Amino acid sequence: MQISKNKVVSIHYTLKDNQGTTLDSSLGGEPLMYIQGIGSLIPGMEEGLEGKTKGDKLQIKVTPDKGYGLRDEALVQQVPRTAFGNQEVQVGMRFRAETPAGVQVVTVTEVSDNAVTVDGNHPLAGVDLNFTVEVMEVRNATPEELAHGHVHGPGGHAH
Ligand code: ZN
Repeated sequence: MQISKNKVVSIHYTLKDNQGTTLDSSLGGEPLMYIQGIGSLIPGMEEGLEGKTKGDKLQIKVTPDKGYGLRDEALVQQVPRTAFGNQEVQVGMRFRAETPAGVQVVTVTEVSDNAVTVDGNHPLAGVDLNFTVEVMEVRNATPEELAHGHVHGPGGHAH
């Protein structure tokens, strides 16, 4: 069975940047399960997997426009340290923040005595993504899975 819209797909993957640093991997854990063609994965991954079958091993290179988007420097802002009150603030912490564009998850990138720099870009925005993928399983989604927009059963949502 080939991967196409509304198939439940199970993959193992490793994600590296262009420097060869591993950013994420499913190896050693459960495979990633998703429904093809409904926007669960970044577009570059779904395009790269379309038409593949169980047992296929492939490399998928995803540029930021098909991944997590380009970086927008306007999303990098300095806020007064006092805005965080007595809360401990460290580089790498993530917060939900009210912004002109609505609620966004921001990452703390710099902390000084008076100011905190936060970045509203996705951590992988602007990064070339190099995936090594093995297709573990392909099956039809059930009508219930399609209605819910996610995978049920082992590795999926339990209700
Ligand atoms: Zn469900």
